[in-house]
Amino acid sequence: MHTLVRSTATILAIGALVVACAKVPYTNRLQYNLIPNSLMRGIGASTYTTMLAGEKIQRQGEDADILARVGRRISRAAAEPKYDWQFSMIVDDDMVNAWCLPGGKIAFYTGILPALKNEAGMAFVMGHEVAHATANHGSERMSQQLTLLGGLVGLEVYMANNTTVKPKDRAVILGALGVGATVGVVLPFSRMHESEADVIGMMYMAEAGYPPAESIKVWDRMEEVAGASGLPAFLSTHPKSDARQENQREWLPRARKRYQRNALERDTLEELWKM
Ligand SMILES: [Zn+2]
Repeated sequence: MHTLVRSTATILAIGALVVACAKVPYTNRLQYNLIPNSLMRGIGASTYTTMLAGEKIQRQGEDADILARVGRRISRAAAEPKYDWQFSMIVDDDMVNAWCLPGGKIAFYTGILPALKNEAGMAFVMGHEVAHATANHGSERMSQQLTLLGGLVGLEVYMANNTTVKPKDRAVILGALGVGATVGVVLPFSRMHESEADVIGMMYMAEAGYPPAESIKVWDRMEEVAGASGLPAFLSTHPKSDARQENQREWLPRARKRYQRNALERDTLEELWKM
């Protein structure tokens, strides 16, 4: 109980220091975050190391090259100079998933490639995941969860600059960051956060030179993959819905204008990965 009181006091003190209303990119929604971005970047970096430990990472070859290229273009569109961008392709053909941690730490599993189908498809999912980070969805949700003892303890561990995180705290933190599905705790972002990431992701992909209409098709392909092999992890945290695609169609003309100014000369819709 003492820990809880102390943590709450710490959080409130931090809150008082950084009371800031940040604006979400493109949608301009005002959000209130209790957690400083520098702290979130630290959480992202140490969590990334933990998540990649024991995974087989593909560092060479065409798929890794494409991931690096798309990552470079999307991160340039996201324009976050304080981010230390990293892109990893995890070799796991059964895992249909991708995620991004605060501070620009991104991972794609080889299992998601058939649903992406082409470079533009990858650019949308990359844009969507990056958007969760740049729109601070993780810290917004952690702010909402601060009443949970686990969250407080977990956060305190990080604030004490301790990089070893107890498994139970780790699950809470990962859940808050939206990568829960990969550690067995499914805690999806809210529908509002998902729609927001769709919109920002479309804008990033268009800015990076990829045709934004492909973003709507990715969801259909994700569902096809689901039909073949059960519900992929990505769909369990990112349920496809007509409302979502409708929202994307609404933003399409604005994204298209951006694309027309930046379109890449090569064919980014060429089929690279087969279902
Ligand atoms: Zn998402």
